[in-house]
Amino acid sequence: MRNNDCIFCKIIAGEIPSCTIYEDGAFKVILDVNPASKGHALILPKEHCADIYEIDEETAANVMKLAKKLTHYMTEQLRCDGFNLLQNNHEVAGQTVYHFHMHLIPRYHGARNNDILRWSHETFSAGEMDEICNKLKFPEQFQAD
Ligand code: AMP
Ligand code: ZN
Repeated sequence: MRNNDCIFCKIIAGEIPSCTIYEDGAFKVILDVNPASKGHALILPKEHCADIYEIDEETAANVMKLAKKLTHYMTEQLRCDGFNLLQNNHEVAGQTVYHFHMHLIPRYHGARNNDILRWSHETFSAGEMDEICNKLKFPEQFQAD
């Protein structure tokens, strides 16, 4: 389903121009208009959904399959030295467009901005780490086989 206020839905419909590098029935992959590196691309599912909380499991799995395929292809074409896959959810996490998208960011030795995507570290005591770990232990009954 399309969201009429969504810029990525308009790009998917061809109402706003984009540099499209891949398209099939379920996905469009475009170059990011403000790239972090040469070849920075975005995987857009054609069905509108805002983020990881809304996307259905099958589409999410297919995003990763496509990311794997494109990472190999783009690495060959661009001769890049590495890759980041990045996916932001909600404003606090840096999301600015509320249509699920996966960033594909080729990385190059010697690029000026190679410190992007590095973060400063937080420190937690051993007790705090235990508490966090206990809180996050995933219930066995919900684990995949
Ligand atoms: P995020 O901050 O994870 O929500 O990423 C949104 C990305 O969409 C940013 O990197 C923007 O540069 C990119 N973006 C916004 N508008 C367009 C557009 N019209 N065409 C291509 N990329 C866009
Ligand atoms: Zn949309």
